[in-house]
Amino acid sequence: MNYDYDLFVIGAGSGGVRASRIASQLGAKVAVAEDRYLGGTCVNVGCVPKKLFVYSSEYAKSFKDAAGFGWAVGETKFQWDTLRDNKTAEIERLNGIYGNILENAGVELINGHASIVDPHTVKVGEKNYTAKYILVAVGGWPRKPSFPGGEHTIDSNDVFYLKDFPEKVLVQGGGYIAVEFAGIFNGLGCDTELLYRGPLFLRGFDEEIRRFVSSEVEKSGVNLSFNTDIEKIDKRDDGKLDVQLNNGETRTVDAVFSAVGRVPKTEGLGLENTAVQFNKTGEILVNENFQTDEPSIYALGDVVGRKTLTPVALAEGMALARHLFRGDDVTLSYKNIATAVFCQPNIATLGVTEEEAQATGKPYAIFSSEFKPLKNTVSGSEQRTLMKLIVDKESDKVIGAHMAGPDAGEIIQGLAIAVKAGATKQDFDETIGIHPTSAEEYVTMRESAREGNV
Ligand code: NDP
Repeated sequence: MNYDYDLFVIGAGSGGVRASRIASQLGAKVAVAEDRYLGGTCVNVGCVPKKLFVYSSEYAKSFKDAAGFGWAVGETKFQWDTLRDNKTAEIERLNGIYGNILENAGVELINGHASIVDPHTVKVGEKNYTAKYILVAVGGWPRKPSFPGGEHTIDSNDVFYLKDFPEKVLVQGGGYIAVEFAGIFNGLGCDTELLYRGPLFLRGFDEEIRRFVSSEVEKSGVNLSFNTDIEKIDKRDDGKLDVQLNNGETRTVDAVFSAVGRVPKTEGLGLENTAVQFNKTGEILVNENFQTDEPSIYALGDVVGRKTLTPVALAEGMALARHLFRGDDVTLSYKNIATAVFCQPNIATLGVTEEEAQATGKPYAIFSSEFKPLKNTVSGSEQRTLMKLIVDKESDKVIGAHMAGPDAGEIIQGLAIAVKAGATKQDFDETIGIHPTSAEEYVTMRESAREGNV
């Protein structure tokens, strides 16, 4: 049968663009439909603008630290409009680059909302397109809070385009987005309180790191309220929000930023016209080759939710294109994927946590170092750093590395290569450090802090 395209991709985010480009370069005829913005969440309302905001928020500490180094900085003033608009200009530049990537690769871009009519047909506007394979790479969307007045909250789509910057904000949630934005709001001068429903935020991260970060985040000026959640919000005539908490307390704030997870964006895609199946949290079910229960339809990235991270979607897109159009096996490993949380201090994490090492029942050793970085001696900053390695005692292999401190992501990325290559603690010990850096601690931790399952 003749189709209009070999591959029709729905969604021009990280995974969709990568799959389209590689497929086209491998000789496939490819179209990609997008109804919002090129580059998806990461480029438009995620990683990239968030990191720009993080950079901006870190100036507050730098201005303060500068005095100890002899600088009289003078009066400083944060201007939200400047940050927001400069960020938007940069994002628009990146949108253009994504357009060029598709054009140069020979991928046809179709602007509009796509819905699947049957296993080989996609409709955009009034037009039907047929394809041998359809790839659903539509990503995710912020979960809406369910309490009364939830419509008065802002989420990670809104926060990048606010007209006015709040003076006082409540952040709801204890995951990546909530913790990162608590740091951003605080650094940009906003009176910030983070509410998390559980006893300690960042569930799933190494517990020692979570406790350490909680104390450092508090030191940086964010008020943390754990075991606390929102019951309802009332909006006043003057725009302020009266927030009722589940512990009987109330707050009056300018904004409530809700970051209670993300959900796959599968509504209105016509998937009911296919045999595609979902798991109980709404992610599309796929096999190891990203194929859904409808053989001609594939899905990857956040809509599948194996690891909702941009570099994972990129790797999945590449692997699928090579599988479909070059016959490669998909051999993607989800083990030892390093990630970072860009809060203050930054967290980066790789491999198993101490709790996971404990749960394996196999003997392990913990090496750790907590210290005040050199820069914070003269600056007078109280911010400290924690670095930690987890070693499998039988093989001597490093199976986990965690850090909370400046540039944690930059440091752990390097360690991720060593760990992927199977480095042992002895390899770390025989590596000569770069002095004076914080990173050198990773090659100078000689005595284990404790051992488990021995
Ligand atoms: P997460 O899943 O990381 O965190 C969601 C948070 O919301 C958790 O603390 C969760 O609590 C809480 N929560 C969930 N439901 C409710 C509810 N009904 N009421 C109150 N609290 C609730 O989601 P995020 O939105 O922060 O981020 C989504 C994903 O995006 C991340 O998991 C990550 O994969 C990715 N991301 C990565 C970043 C990076 O690499 N730096 C940055 C931002 C996002 P509990 O723990 O108790 O379930």
